[in-house]
Amino acid sequence: MKVDKEMKQYDVIIVGAGASGLICAGELGLRGVKTLVLNSGDKIGKKIKIAGGGRCNFTNLNVSKDNYVSNNPNFVISALKQFSNYDFIEMVKEAKIPYYEKKDGQLFCKNSSLDIINMLSKRCEQGSVKIINNYIVDDVVKQDDAYIVNSDYKTENLVIAAGGMSYKNLGASDIGYKIARKFGLKIIEPKPALVPLVIDGCDKLKGISLNVKVKFGKQSFTDDMLFTHFGLSGPAILKISNYWNKGEVIEIDLVPEIDIYDFLIKERESGNKKKLVNLLNGILPERLAEFIAKEMKINGNILELSNKKIREIANRINNWQVTPSKTKGFDMAEVTKGGVDVNEISSKTFESKKHNGLYFIGEVLDVTGELGGFNLQWASSSGASMARNLRLFP
Ligand SMILES: Cc1cc2nc3c(=O)[nH]c(=O)nc-3n(C[C@H](O)[C@H](O)[C@H](O)COP(=O)(O)OP(=O)(O)OC[C@H]3O[C@@H](n4cnc5c(N)ncnc54)[C@H](O)[C@@H]3O)c2cc1C
Repeated sequence: MKVDKEMKQYDVIIVGAGASGLICAGELGLRGVKTLVLNSGDKIGKKIKIAGGGRCNFTNLNVSKDNYVSNNPNFVISALKQFSNYDFIEMVKEAKIPYYEKKDGQLFCKNSSLDIINMLSKRCEQGSVKIINNYIVDDVVKQDDAYIVNSDYKTENLVIAAGGMSYKNLGASDIGYKIARKFGLKIIEPKPALVPLVIDGCDKLKGISLNVKVKFGKQSFTDDMLFTHFGLSGPAILKISNYWNKGEVIEIDLVPEIDIYDFLIKERESGNKKKLVNLLNGILPERLAEFIAKEMKINGNILELSNKKIREIANRINNWQVTPSKTKGFDMAEVTKGGVDVNEISSKTFESKKHNGLYFIGEVLDVTGELGGFNLQWASSSGASMARNLRLFP
């Protein structure tokens, strides 16, 4: 373990050099706050690098509290105002990073996520922030008003920006939750989110992709869905996974723009002798049409089908009820849902209500954004808000 004797005491120590830690460190540094970042990874911003397939969907043109899941849905409002999507866009513009809107307001870097990492790194450099990589924080103790990290570093302001549990190979750990628990803060059980779902018996459909409407409870999303060897993936499924609970049914409309019941009734009334599979072929991908006709044991033509049978077919297509057995877990989850209970934290300053000088920002908190740039925006909004509210000097 590295010990930096000269600079052992800092105004602020941040655990984690992901998006939230870096934004926070940059803001503090630029305000002249002596800041140290301790990071377990060999590099900073490893998740930013792979985000959005390497182009980093860094924010969205339309961000509101409705894009987030949390036990306290109003918690995000203050930070999203203090450092909004437009503040983030302004920062990106100032750094002359080319970006574009892909769809639905999602903003991506034109070149590479590295542009964002370089921007954040430069801001830290300008503020003389010290960053130590390959340094694993595994314990924090409180001594009077100070927090001691691994018996190496001391600060009166400790910021936990250690992220969630997803993608262990990028340095994810449970240290944020451990520290929170140690200081008596409540944790909402961390679960994988923005994650593919496992459905048994779909492997024959692997590779098929189509635009669907997925529903769970009050939530619904229309977007692409992909059948894989283990079940279902694609944006529509990742989005609904934020809300899905194990053991519960999701509803999938495989052709949201067509009422299959009306369509088949009309085809039958027209006296058309077409086979069901051939009719469905024009609407669904061929392999899926064959799969459904076989599954429903329908071989004959449409004239032989009763209203009841047509209703069953329509339900299978417009209202497929499916119960995933599980998610693909933290290894494939873009984010972690749950985390440090936000009712323990000030929504303005991100300080723990129980312990002065202990802060939590980013994904370690029980705030989960939808797919579309909302998680990096949250990391940035919470990180910047913490830094801007810190009052060190009287
Ligand atoms: C594949 C993938 C793609 C994604 N794409 C997008 C996207 O396009 N848009 C979007 O908005 N969101 C995206 N996300 C989510 C987004 O990247 C995260 O929500 C965001 O990076 C969280 O930032 P954070 O700072 O809270 O945590 P992280 O970025 O996870 O950073 C946590 C840091 O803490 C460090 N750390 C952990 N444990 C310790 C320890 N014990 N000691 C010291 N340091 C420690 C880690 O090394 C890491 O650097 C994606 C996520 C993944 C996995």
